Amino acid sequence: MGALGTAERPVRVAVVGAGPAGFFVSEALLKRAAPVFSVDLIERLPTPFGLVRAGVAPDHQKIKSVTRTFEKTAQHGRFRFFGHVTVGKDVSHEELLSHYDQVVYAIGSSGDRRLGIPGEELTGCHAATAFVGWYNGHPDFRDFPFDLGKKRAVVVGAGNVALDISRVLLRDRDELAKTDIADYALDALRRSPLEEVVVLARRGPAQAAFTTGELEDIIALPGVAVRVDPKQLEVDETTLARLDANAKRNLEVLQKVADAPKAEARRTLKLEFLASPVEVLGEDGKVRGVKVERNALVPVGDDVKARGTGEFFELDAGLVFRSIGYFGQPVPGVPFDEKAGVIPNVDGRVKERDGATVPRVYAVGWIRRGPLGVIGTNKADGVLVAERVAEDVAALVPEARPSPGGLPRLLAERGVKVVSYADWLALDRLEVEAGRQTGKVREKITRIEDMLNALLREG
Ligand code: NAP
Repeated sequence: MGALGTAERPVRVAVVGAGPAGFFVSEALLKRAAPVFSVDLIERLPTPFGLVRAGVAPDHQKIKSVTRTFEKTAQHGRFRFFGHVTVGKDVSHEELLSHYDQVVYAIGSSGDRRLGIPGEELTGCHAATAFVGWYNGHPDFRDFPFDLGKKRAVVVGAGNVALDISRVLLRDRDELAKTDIADYALDALRRSPLEEVVVLARRGPAQAAFTTGELEDIIALPGVAVRVDPKQLEVDETTLARLDANAKRNLEVLQKVADAPKAEARRTLKLEFLASPVEVLGEDGKVRGVKVERNALVPVGDDVKARGTGEFFELDAGLVFRSIGYFGQPVPGVPFDEKAGVIPNVDGRVKERDGATVPRVYAVGWIRRGPLGVIGTNKADGVLVAERVAEDVAALVPEARPSPGGLPRLLAERGVKVVSYADWLALDRLEVEAGRQTGKVREKITRIEDMLNALLREG
């Protein structure tokens, strides 16, 4: 056997999580001339691509074209895909460490944050993340009981996810029918009498987290009017002088909308700034509205915070979505920061609570730095963490780890039905073909069982 990090004996890395961060770090590792790496990408679902498949909105197909880059990585001779394998259930963290030289966690942030207000548990009050998973056909959410038979929905939060779900709720159904939206979600939207979505932003328009592109997308929707109270767009001179380019453009675009609102529209998006929900109101266990407090901005350091003014108003609504961010989930045996929802690390090197480095273990993407940034942000993150992984190779003991056959053998012994990349390509073909028959980009298979059965039929 050759020296560690050569073509005869590559450094064997397990990357856990096949979303953008997992693929980008794999790409960065495989691209290196020295040391030479091999990558096994392990994914809980039978399908790769994480939030590109199950997060990016179905009417944003252009963004999904990044999968072409991931496909190139998947074709690499030193890359293998282990789909439908859960770390912490099918194989433990400790077992991975015994089979690989290094382990990189790229598991994203699959949980959500709660508002912590009364009424959040009422039927009809949902996490935006669950709704996103549902309309995107994510197996974990496809059976979620979303009742869209309501005229008004309230979305709490002013980020891009809030605008994504608002757009999907408001967009013309025939337009959505051409995308890869889950069939049951399209049916529910077609039946929905929804007329208005109200977005509640706790701070002002200058602090909104959404990007101008997302805002313009929704403004451009045919049959949808965006309404905003011009008084809420007034920003003081000091704030104006400090605005970043995105906030400046947001304000300009919002001002135009406020000055010339669309006269005729089937559905409406109301942007309500300086407004926080203080209670989700219910009747017979179901959401009937939201009690909202008007906020004022108070300076805190270089930033501003929302503070309640004691002035309240109520909104009737049958649906409430909290869109206030994703939150990471722990893996048994791997350090976890419960407060921040991330794996504690410095530049990707995982740390214990006391600050000690956990040898051979890394984190990348949202589970490393929190649920912020666009898909492309993970490219730089992948490069950074690959660099640290490579730097640490010198400290590895090569002969301590078994062969590439170790993990497949272990999983076979446990009866785990591993989905390979070739299997995924077969599923991909089936989905695209099923979509073609009904004029959609693809028709997703949304149950794991159905995916596995389809693969059995394909042989
Ligand atoms: P986000 O960008 O962090 O936005 C979260 C929003 O929730 C902020 O407006 C925040 O307001 C608000 N918020 C937080 N806690 C709150 C509370 N207790 N009460 C009321 N409001 C609260 O998160 P996200 O929308 O989930 O998006 C996650 C990441 O994915 C972002 O980086 C986003 O840009 C990205 N993404 C990108 C796209 C795209 O490029 N097309 C699409 C979807 C998502 P404060 O600012 O006051 O904290």
